[in-house]
Amino acid sequence: MSQLSTWVQIPNNSDFTIYNLPFGIFQNKRLSPRAGMAIGDKIVDLSVLHQEGFFAELSQLPTDIFVRASLNDLIALGKPVTRKIREKVQELLLADNESLREHQCRGKAMVNRKEAKMLMPVQIGDYTDFYSSIEHATNVGSMFRDPENALLPNWKHLPVGYHGRASSIIPSGVPIHRPKGQYKDPHMEAPEFGPSRRLDFELELAFVTGKSTKMGDSISTSDAEDHIFGFVLFNDWSARDIQAWEYVPLGPFLGKNFASSISPWIVTLEALEPFRLSGPKQDPQVLPYLACKKDHSFDLNLEVYIQPEGKSESRVCISNFKHMYWNIAQQLAHHTVNGCNINVGDLYASGTISGKTPDSFGSMLELAWKGTKPLDLGEGVFRKFIEDGDTVIMRGFAQKDQIRVGFGEVNTKVLPTK
Ligand code: CA
Repeated sequence: MSQLSTWVQIPNNSDFTIYNLPFGIFQNKRLSPRAGMAIGDKIVDLSVLHQEGFFAELSQLPTDIFVRASLNDLIALGKPVTRKIREKVQELLLADNESLREHQCRGKAMVNRKEAKMLMPVQIGDYTDFYSSIEHATNVGSMFRDPENALLPNWKHLPVGYHGRASSIIPSGVPIHRPKGQYKDPHMEAPEFGPSRRLDFELELAFVTGKSTKMGDSISTSDAEDHIFGFVLFNDWSARDIQAWEYVPLGPFLGKNFASSISPWIVTLEALEPFRLSGPKQDPQVLPYLACKKDHSFDLNLEVYIQPEGKSESRVCISNFKHMYWNIAQQLAHHTVNGCNINVGDLYASGTISGKTPDSFGSMLELAWKGTKPLDLGEGVFRKFIEDGDTVIMRGFAQKDQIRVGFGEVNTKVLPTK
């Protein structure tokens, strides 16, 4: 990709460069919820550009498409349209382009990001969580079952997943309360009830679908990316004690559905193109409907920080999306191979993204190895799991030469049980 420069001032190490231009929904004291695109410390108010006729070549764009409370209707217009919008904004922001820079609407079109509140970018109808990291599945299998047979027999033949809860998915900045529930530790004679004692995060990425299907239809791995609009960071909050007691035989339920947090900017697949690479070799060979003709993995750096109340943040994990055994095309092909229909705005989380080394594990369960190796956060603070008052922050970015594309962050404070 050729090097691009913009007239917008971009702070060093900003995730929101001219190469990125993610979509989100924001509001501020003056403006009702609307669609914007992040660039440096600014947000481009797309409705202003539309009013001023900058999208005139997209004749089918409804007048109010950018002032709706979610991106669903915009995304549903299809990739040819959203891609043109993003390309047009990129062109307007180029250093040698004067049409917006010198336009009288410039002040109105460029909103300060600091003064904006980010909202949920999409209305999520359905949410699915996969379990696609071989390192994570092996770690968890070793802890809870048998280190010799950590992976169950199906794991390398299909991307394991479950249907999660969409109602409790919240954007970055919204605090959560420690969940209550039932648990029975091995030494307990009977189950007990109370606030979870093992609250955990899971470092994940999630993709948003932008093209629906009808019941009975299946999506091939080759067509899968046509249905994927972009990605957000995803913290799949987990109450390990509640989860361990309830999950047999049907899987996650109250240990998971109390909250999941996402970063508010949807980074498009187009923006991630420079970071595409092949995933891990799959052995045994997968069934034909899961075979891929091209690469569907991405080199994305991921980090998790914990900030205890009144202390500074401390990095506890460095991982990378490229470690995932199952890719997004395989996940969507598997999800729909039985004819399950998908909708615009559905969310599909990757599963915890752990790498091979102990500092790359994507959950406290693994980082502190079931509580046996407390993490040293400095300033005399140690953690086995997440405590009340802690803020968990996830960040993600990709970098190649001069090109940086990032997600910003998802940060969530944990409050005591309600
Ligand atoms: Ca998960």
